[in-house]
Amino acid sequence: MKQFQFGYKTYEQFWNELTKIRQWQNARIVSKIVLQVYSVELESSIFQKMFAAIDEILPDAIYLGCSTNGNIIDGKIAKSDIIIVCTIFEYPSTHVQILQYDFKDFDSAEMANQLNAVVSHNPWVTAIEFLVTIRGKSMTTFCDRMSNIREDVVLFGGGAFAPDLSSSKACVYSNEHGYSNDGAIFMLLGGEDFHIETLYIAGWKPLGRVFRVTAADGCILKELDYKPAYDAYYKYLSIKNDENFFYNTLEFPFLYQHNGIDLLRAPVASNADGSLVMTSDMDEDVNARIAYGDPWTILESVHQGGERIRAFQPEIIHIYSCAARKTFWGTDEVSKETLPFQTIAPTSGFFTSGEFLRTGKYLNQHNVTLVIAAMREGKKSCKPKTFEMQKEVFSGKVSMINRLATFIEAATEELEEANRKLALSVITDGMTQLLNRSEITRLIRCAVKQKSKKEINLCLVMLDIDDFKRVNDTCGHKEGDNVIIALSDILRETAKTQENISAGRWGGEEFMLLFQDYPTDDVQAIAECIRREFSETAFEKSEPKTVSIGIVTIQNAETPDAACIRVDNALYEAKKSGKNKIVVL
Ligand code: GH3
Ligand code: MG
Ligand code: MG
Repeated sequence: MKQFQFGYKTYEQFWNELTKIRQWQNARIVSKIVLQVYSVELESSIFQKMFAAIDEILPDAIYLGCSTNGNIIDGKIAKSDIIIVCTIFEYPSTHVQILQYDFKDFDSAEMANQLNAVVSHNPWVTAIEFLVTIRGKSMTTFCDRMSNIREDVVLFGGGAFAPDLSSSKACVYSNEHGYSNDGAIFMLLGGEDFHIETLYIAGWKPLGRVFRVTAADGCILKELDYKPAYDAYYKYLSIKNDENFFYNTLEFPFLYQHNGIDLLRAPVASNADGSLVMTSDMDEDVNARIAYGDPWTILESVHQGGERIRAFQPEIIHIYSCAARKTFWGTDEVSKETLPFQTIAPTSGFFTSGEFLRTGKYLNQHNVTLVIAAMREGKKSCKPKTFEMQKEVFSGKVSMINRLATFIEAATEELEEANRKLALSVITDGMTQLLNRSEITRLIRCAVKQKSKKEINLCLVMLDIDDFKRVNDTCGHKEGDNVIIALSDILRETAKTQENISAGRWGGEEFMLLFQDYPTDDVQAIAECIRREFSETAFEKSEPKTVSIGIVTIQNAETPDAACIRVDNALYEAKKSGKNKIVVL
């Protein structure tokens, strides 16, 4: 695998470069030639002329490309408006196939289905690189459907945009169906000697507390923790809704969990109702955290990611970077995070506003992220290269913002731990460590509510130690406590070792158990074990004690209070009829 990259300057120069490739090809064994043409220039007549030249000089070449928000060539931001990346596949076993679809004919779900059908008939497909015009489209369905493609197929690509991200002139093109303002191109790659490694690098790190996305609709993030989403930016970061909103929030986009991985979403605008327009779709009922980006932390992540790519020993590297990263770094600095890849292999790509990568089963649309695809034909070389980054970045220094973020993380963790303990103490009985009465009552209410929606068997078990007052009177209050604790330990163990049993202290030496989804016979058997185990427990001063138990099965439409009265009656029956026994009502 080889790659030639050059910027388009004039038509003559373009013609000469193609001729050079032709001459190079004539002298060697070449399996396939693929030209990727990326352009910030939107004039379609230029493309038509270029394509005619390719058809003439390299008639067997495959070409594809799209409009972009900026190009990456030789690992850095390109000066030329148009770049040409020519990949030469050398192994005869390598397959390349282009498919092109138009959104006029297929919606994105149908497109993904078509592709899935093609892949299932072609076991050689290892990877699909794609370019798609996505302005204004929700790509969630597309990603979901694409995720149905055979799980071992690597999927990656980028949205075709223009220098003005909102421009409708964005386009894709290929030798398959030419130029389109509303379509997608898929390059199927594979064969037994073709290898690919992908990864995404964000570099933004989570900061501070977790928010719950309580309302979201497509790319509109409406509420976090039931408050307008914009409030989070104002309250925690004092970011005002002014002309710098996008830039300021770019330093602090949201990290949120989707398909089991963290995705970044940056707000692009804030609405009058406090909702935020995000770079792409967000789910409802997921956790999100504000993330921070600073140059040092980002480059650290690039360094780690780069090492993984280096170990793969690629021959070429394709990068899909977010236009937001260009805004974040500025055009003079943005190459800092892509240039190190050039030390491993020729690195090219473009800036987009939606970079895609499959992780595990799922294809995800990332934002503010670098998606990297490293490719190789044949075995690893015996002379691996090193991933070189500017030395001053890793001289042991850590950025101030990184240290402050670590401080906030640690402080937040401590606070959350304290909150967890506090929340637990509110629902726990101090002496027995069982649930307290108000918590077990709340759980009974919740379970009864659930039962009204879904048919489940609920049982209440009430226990009261027999002749307990005598322990206090004859052995002292302390020994009385020991007896209460001994029964509590048995109840806590029962609830801990079996699911869906909750154990609470009802008061004094009375206890309540809630069994969810257990047949009443099983509940009775477990209660019998508890009764027997307690009666066999020895105490320091006191004689062994016994316990009386009442059991009820909560009836349909029975209120929690009525069920509690009934189980109290069952317990009363057990006491009245001789104690140390179970009565089921
Ligand atoms: P019965 O078999 O009918 O249940 O008789 P009993 O003696 O257990 O009767 P009762 O329920 O009236 O007695 C409960 C006693 O438990 C009354 C109260 O002084 C005592 N008690 C309540 N809480 C505690 C506690 O935390 N520690 C100790 N040591 N005693 C407690
Ligand atoms: Mg009692
Ligand atoms: Mg008692």
